Amino acid sequence: MLNFIATGLVVSGVGILVCSVFPIWKLMALLPREALRQSWYVLTALIMIFIIGYTAYIGVFWGAHERLANLVVPGIFFLGACFVLLVNYLSLKTTRDIQRMPVLEQESITDPLTELYNRRYLDRCLATEIDRANRYGISLSLLLLDIDHFKRINDSYGHQVGDVVLAELAQVIVNSVRTTDVVTRYGGEEIMVMAPSTPLETAVDLAARLRETIERESVDVPAKLHPELKELRITVSIGVASFQDGNDHETLIQSVDEALYRAKRNGRNCVSTVRPATTQP
Ligand code: GH3
Ligand code: MG
Ligand code: MG
Repeated sequence: MLNFIATGLVVSGVGILVCSVFPIWKLMALLPREALRQSWYVLTALIMIFIIGYTAYIGVFWGAHERLANLVVPGIFFLGACFVLLVNYLSLKTTRDIQRMPVLEQESITDPLTELYNRRYLDRCLATEIDRANRYGISLSLLLLDIDHFKRINDSYGHQVGDVVLAELAQVIVNSVRTTDVVTRYGGEEIMVMAPSTPLETAVDLAARLRETIERESVDVPAKLHPELKELRITVSIGVASFQDGNDHETLIQSVDEALYRAKRNGRNCVSTVRPATTQP
């Protein structure tokens, strides 16, 4: 009976060691350079040596397990094999997690519908740019765009058409601004453009250009969403505000919000500005 248990432990150990090679192969396939694989080749070779050692043990000590204490070595062999499998599996999992981290990071700052950055990313960038503006006196402007009567588009043609409008608008804006400008989906149908090193006058010119482009370009609606509606025109209202000495994040956002509110009040499809109040130190 003891011989049977001892052989079972060692044979299971061999099986587990064989299985523990597979995570290493998968891991090596994920590594981009041959040089990075070398230490894993060494580990694979060591596992092979262990497999030979385990098998030799079965041959040499066949039938020699008469007392319970004789099970200590087969037991250690078995646990050792489990340990190797666990370490290899965890190494593979960690490698996969590390490779996915940039993707997860990108996903955490991107809006899936428009593929623009999201508000979390804007907050992060705005804090940095406000610091820079405070320290070096560099200008900084915000543009907040809001689609006019967007609810009517959803109500008349459906939410899917509304989604297409949002996605296309996002592309028009991205194609019209500098690569250093940060375009984010700020809310439902509100898009914020953060323009570093841009004074108020330049930001107003940009806003006027954006407003005109959006009014001129029609949105292509896929026939499967709405067969009769080939193209759709939209307009936007835009609020513009610029950084003033000592402004913090909230003041600047409040200013651009107020500017957008004014643009809506002035009849929509227009640009309005507001200068944030200077905060005394
Ligand atoms: P205003 O000219 O005053 O801005 O009017 P509006 O209709 O554009 O504004 P309102 O705030 O009344 O409605 C915004 C609409 O945007 C309501 C909401 O259903 C819609 N919306 C928000 N997010 C999404 C989205 O991801 N997809 C779609 N299709 N609609 C959205
Ligand atoms: Mg709107
Ligand atoms: Mg809105």
